[in-house]
This record gives sequence, C-alpha cells and structure tokens, in this order.
Amino acid sequence: MHKILVSRCLLGHRVRYDGGASGPFDQLAHWQAEGRVVALCPEVAGGLPTPRAAAEIPGGQGSEVLDGRAQVLTSDGEDVSGEFLDGARQALALVQRHGIRIAVLKAHSPSCGNVLTYDGSFGGIKVQGAGVTAALLARHGVQVFSELQLPEAAAALASLAQ
Ligand code: SF4
Repeated sequence: MHKILVSRCLLGHRVRYDGGASGPFDQLAHWQAEGRVVALCPEVAGGLPTPRAAAEIPGGQGSEVLDGRAQVLTSDGEDVSGEFLDGARQALALVQRHGIRIAVLKAHSPSCGNVLTYDGSFGGIKVQGAGVTAALLARHGVQVFSELQLPEAAAALASLAQ
C-alpha cells in the first residue's frame, strides 16, 4: 500500500507555532483509517518547542536554505535554519524508509508550504516558493500537495495505484 507523508498540524495535532492545529480533513481521516498516513511536524522534529516564535525565510525560498544561501529567521531575528534543516532531513528519511511518493503538507509554512511561502517581512506577504521540507522532498521526486489540493493528491495516489 502506498503511504503518504502528512503534516501533523493537518491531522489536528496542536503543533503549530501558535500552539494551534489545522483540520481535521475528511480525506486525511480516510487515509489514516486505511493506514496510509505517516505524520510528521518537521519543526517539532527538528527540536523547536510549541508554541514557538513565528519564522519566515527572507525571499521565501526553502531551496536556498537547503543550499546555504538563505536562513530561516524568527520574528526576533533568531536563526533557526538548523532546526528546519534537521526536520527536513527527518522528513526525507521517513519518505525513503516508507517508499513514499506523495506528501500533503500545510500550505504557506516555511517548512511545509509547497507553492507559496511568506516573504520574510512578517507582513503577511506571500511569494512563489516552497518551505524547507517541501523543497527537499520535491528535490527527491516526492509530489508535494497541500490541504488546498486534496483532490489533486487523491488523483495522484490513484494513478500510483494503477
Ligand atoms: Fe509542523 Fe509543518 Fe504544521 Fe508547521 S506546517 S506545524 S512545521 S507540520
């Protein structure tokens, strides 16, 4: 059975930086019941507490963090790139261990966002770009969707199963 990596906050786990959760989502609950879901919060796995300071990537490009050309900074200016990179590597390890080819990660997060992230100004401005974990998984061939794209994720899963 094909497994799917899912952001823990989308499963109702209160791991977000503000101590909250997102979801639940019927589609994700269905996949959980099938035993497909491998859950991870990269930021918590990387050693950050909950709640924690909001963090953004100046320029919004997780791939640049992977390449050492950008940092992840909290609103206080603390560099948390190491924790974000650690969490991304744990996500990749899970994907490789379980043969995962599809992920559903929280939209707009500096770790999990797959299409848009915040620009580093802490002004609520989004730019095209992926978070650190989403960028690392995409580099390794994982199809990364968000909770805004659950039908597309389901279609991708169906195509794998054929
Ligand atoms: Fe954790 Fe990703 Fe959810 Fe942020 S978006 S709380 S890093 S799972």
